[in-house]
Amino acid sequence: MSADPPVPHTRILAGLLLGAMAGCLVNVVFVEPGLPPLIPPWLRWINANIAEPVGQVFLRLLFVTVVPLVFASLAVGVTQIGSLGAVGRVGAKTIGYFLLTSTMAAIIGIVLVNLVEPGRGLPDETIAELQRTYGGDAARRKKADFTVLEFVKQIVPSNPISAAAHLEMLGIITFALLVGIGLTRLEPHKAELMKRLLEAMGELMVTIIQLAMRLAPYGVFCLIFKTASEFGFDLLKLLGQYAAVVLVGLAIQGGLILPLFVKVLTGINPVTFFTKIRASIVTAFSTSSSNATLPTNLRVAQTEFRAPIPIAGFVLPLGATMCMAGTALFEGVTVMFLAQVFLPEALSIGDQVLVVILCVLTAVGAAGVPGGSIPLLMLVLASIGVEPGAIALILGIDRILDMSRTTVNNIGDMSAVVIVASSEGMLDRPEPVVEPPKA
Ligand code: ASP
Repeated sequence: MSADPPVPHTRILAGLLLGAMAGCLVNVVFVEPGLPPLIPPWLRWINANIAEPVGQVFLRLLFVTVVPLVFASLAVGVTQIGSLGAVGRVGAKTIGYFLLTSTMAAIIGIVLVNLVEPGRGLPDETIAELQRTYGGDAARRKKADFTVLEFVKQIVPSNPISAAAHLEMLGIITFALLVGIGLTRLEPHKAELMKRLLEAMGELMVTIIQLAMRLAPYGVFCLIFKTASEFGFDLLKLLGQYAAVVLVGLAIQGGLILPLFVKVLTGINPVTFFTKIRASIVTAFSTSSSNATLPTNLRVAQTEFRAPIPIAGFVLPLGATMCMAGTALFEGVTVMFLAQVFLPEALSIGDQVLVVILCVLTAVGAAGVPGGSIPLLMLVLASIGVEPGAIALILGIDRILDMSRTTVNNIGDMSAVVIVASSEGMLDRPEPVVEPPKA
């Protein structure tokens, strides 16, 4: 493995804060508020020709490693856990935890939205204005069909190369699991060869990521600058209650529920947990992408928690795609909010249960990229009778919500890895405090 030290997270954090401050300042001084905000041409130029390209180079250098990294680390993880005879057990615990936390998150979101009812009482002119302004965006988004058959096809690919080419992460995961399981059954000398190749591929990707991460402080600065400088604060005011419900829900899930699971199941206290995962949090928040955060998560799991490589290599790639409690919560709140705005009658309890189930399933299926859940969210809207184009209402402020829900998704990933490792007796537990002997 390359001996390069990782870029200190303080530099990435500095990029994040400076970019946010510079962007907000430019927004306040030069952008005329309104729907949509009036952005001066020079700012558009800077964003389109400097900020966005630098940010995209950074993100894409991370994305380019994701398919080989997920494939190699999962397959190797399965063979290593397989040699301990524990694939089924570890897999069941991991996926069970993902589903449990995502379901809890969707329920929290739906309870909050029922209590606050942010969708009732927006003036008609405001809704009409928002639809006129943001409707185009929604129409351009890809719409996909949600049927059980489609879901099954996503999970079981017929062609691994095509799954990789189309970034169908569930298909890639299934293929990696099959390769890992197959390797545990191959003759040892053949399996060994393949395993070493996969291990080398994983390490190679990590080396590339370390190079890409040198760009992180600048990439993060540019990504945040663009969002903050163009961000229409007016829209945030209008949709303030809705955004507040999403953010409060995420804070409950990420700040209370997940650390509580960690505390109860591993004994690690929340302050220690959050201090150790701060690099993951900064990366997730600034990239809005679970996939882009995967390399940082793998490093943090090993350096901060000394989680064994087989467990981290198994749980974290699965989590980057499947563990999306923040997304499930966001979807639940958004669907209910738009139903409150557009449907004359409140949704029945049966419909709300359906919303929870669909939000959990679509969150599992959403790609871990910025805005990855939006196309699937449109399907959930359609299935409860809300026009999918209604998503236009919230797209203007989605980036800020995306940054926040991706952070919670990644807190979920990190909580999963410590909980699973600890349940297997493989986590470096904190040393008990030993009182110094009295003189
Ligand atoms: N950006 C999210 C993630 O990568 C996915 C989403 O909710 O859009 O985790």
